[in-house]
Amino acid sequence: MNKPAQKIQPIFFIGCGPGDPELITVKGKRLLKEADMIVYAGSLVKEKVLQYAKKEADIYNSASMALEEIMKIVVDAARARKKVVRLHSGDPTLYSALREQADILDKEKIPYEVIPGVSSAFASAAALKRELTMPEITQTVIFTRLEGRTPVPEQERLSLLARHQATMCIFLSIGMIDNVIKELKKGYPEDTPAAVVYRATWEDERIIKGRLKDIANKVKKEGIKRQAMIIVGKTLGQGTVPAGSKQGAKYKEGQKSKLYDRNFEHGYRKKKV
Ligand code: SAH
Repeated sequence: MNKPAQKIQPIFFIGCGPGDPELITVKGKRLLKEADMIVYAGSLVKEKVLQYAKKEADIYNSASMALEEIMKIVVDAARARKKVVRLHSGDPTLYSALREQADILDKEKIPYEVIPGVSSAFASAAALKRELTMPEITQTVIFTRLEGRTPVPEQERLSLLARHQATMCIFLSIGMIDNVIKELKKGYPEDTPAAVVYRATWEDERIIKGRLKDIANKVKKEGIKRQAMIIVGKTLGQGTVPAGSKQGAKYKEGQKSKLYDRNFEHGYRKKKV
């Protein structure tokens, strides 16, 4: 009797994190180890993460490939019952063209799954050792980009988003830093803290801190033109220590959260009096 045909395995879209190979998820690493074919997104997937692949895996860099070519090889491999991984930088749901690939797989009736990753926005905030949200400062984070060759909807112009004065993580825009700052200044005061993190978590990571009024010059002086995150917002400022306290902070820019407040009771803790 013939064996039942082996089922097509799902293609796994995996976010491999910002660069440090230890920042892929445990699940992502396991799937990478098991993969027969890996297609990774060129310049931003640090090749070190490919050390987890098995020796005989077929590995392709998608940087020079068009969508149709990429999808043809992954669909053919999946139909040949191979385990296929499509590796994206950071998290695969941000600026990674996931949807157009997924749409083709839906059409071809190939199953797929998406494994999240650490976005460079979070890796950059961690490099800055700053929280993106703080009580009474902002409870909102905006992920966005400046229009380049990819258009951005009119109602999402940076100058309009800037009016909220929330924390903003700006992707794919460092090469246009002058325009970014010009637009941001239409909404934020020019002394708003701003930072640029170049290649967060890579060996050559660089951090540039400043304010809206001086960050562009600092970035240009450092010669940073790509692979960098721009973060803007008051939460990058001095913190919650009251002005004049022994800790010496100059500003009282933030408030402490209620979460660890002795007087704030919640499901897991009684008030401490
Ligand atoms: N999906 C990715 C983003 C891909 S778009 C993520 O979640 O991080 C590429 C942009 O992401 C770059 O232009 C840059 O703005 C940012 N980026 C990616 N890796 C980075 C890193 N290690 N450090 C700083 N910014 C990075």
